[in-house]
Amino acid sequence: MKIVISILGSTGSIGTTTLKIIKKKRVSFLINTLSANSNYNIICSQIKEFNPKNFVIKNVTIFKKVKAKFKNKRVKILNDYNKLNNYKKKNDITVSAVPGIAGLEPTLKFIKSSKKMLLANKESIICGWNLIKSLSRKNKTILVPIDSEHFSIKKILDKHNYKDIKKIYITASGGPFLNLPIKYFKNIKPINAIRHPKWKMGKKISVDSATLMNKILELIEAHKLFNFDYNKYKIIIHPQSLVHAIVKLKNGLTEFLYHEPDMIIPIANAIFDSKVDIDNFYKTNKINEEINKLEFYPVNAKRFPVIKLIPKMNKFISTPIIINAANEILIDNFLKRKISFNSISNYLFAVLRDKDYKKYAIQKPNNLKSIYKIDSWSRKTTLNLIT
Ligand code: NDP
Ligand code: MG
Repeated sequence: MKIVISILGSTGSIGTTTLKIIKKKRVSFLINTLSANSNYNIICSQIKEFNPKNFVIKNVTIFKKVKAKFKNKRVKILNDYNKLNNYKKKNDITVSAVPGIAGLEPTLKFIKSSKKMLLANKESIICGWNLIKSLSRKNKTILVPIDSEHFSIKKILDKHNYKDIKKIYITASGGPFLNLPIKYFKNIKPINAIRHPKWKMGKKISVDSATLMNKILELIEAHKLFNFDYNKYKIIIHPQSLVHAIVKLKNGLTEFLYHEPDMIIPIANAIFDSKVDIDNFYKTNKINEEINKLEFYPVNAKRFPVIKLIPKMNKFISTPIIINAANEILIDNFLKRKISFNSISNYLFAVLRDKDYKKYAIQKPNNLKSIYKIDSWSRKTTLNLIT
């Protein structure tokens, strides 16, 4: 039986890595829906190569161009997820990999029509976890986080009783500026920030890794997914990016999980429920060379000021939505060279000092409308600060 799969964000880093797996095991998969925003060339080549039933394209100009090009073909080109036909079959697997809160609505939609949902899109977990959780329960959809840290933490936690867990360490590579003297931070350009030393990723998450915001978002993601207090977690720097989870148990034992820094490993394990020979997809022996050198350091708050956001996270229920939205706006403007690298963290703290912050931060994110209301306030406030 073929595995019916859909990929939201198929032209991106997570999307193309997933398709690499599918390509190697082509006979086992049937591609239901792919989605992307605007990458015309990759969209066209994916239609030709993978023959999906549907392709949802967000950017209207690109949607029209692709629709015209494939007008006589079997593939259905759409601009709106709501226009998807009801699936004859459920997706066996959907991979959610559209970055930012833009991924939330399609994730919710596909939870209803999928047996298993692989969650890469951390921002939708951060902003809409309650909706994701209740919808997945209702539809009996299995949720598998594939952000490497969360995939690894879950692997360890699944073997234990939650009451036996003492501490969970979330490892951070430190990004491209871990060793750059802080006095040079004022010169950092987008081109420097998107060059990650260990991972090949999209621009947004790469900049988040450079500021360490990626770990703040991952801390919130872990808090939502595993339901432990924030103080159960600690972020530590681990430049080799080989250990992805460290879980300290109350019995004095500590478990590590390591794998090479390639997302193909968590994704393939999540697709095949860990019954997979990774050599089919990926071959190197880096672990053997690097196992002698595993380093772990505390986070330097001067280098990564966003670490000081952590105590604020627990105070009001919707602070994570506000932080996430402000961060999306700031990254976008940094990438457009409108604001400096150092100002990203300054503006994040400034949003939390705004006179209306508490009014929005205390609002319960019970449905999409309330999430978007809080998100929009944060975006508007951030834009007002920077312009
Ligand atoms: P990329 O920027 O590489 O890819 C994003 C994908 O989403 C592209 O296919 C893009 O289309 C599409 N897209 C963007 N905006 C929209 C939209 N509004 N509607 C529909 N599609 C859209 O991102 P990554 O793959 O790096 O990251 C995806 C998610 O996974 C993020 O949330 C990230 O935090 C998370 N993640 C990523 C990891 C990684 O290693 N890359 C690791 C762990 C988590 P187009 O190309 O046409 O613009
Ligand atoms: Mg991660």
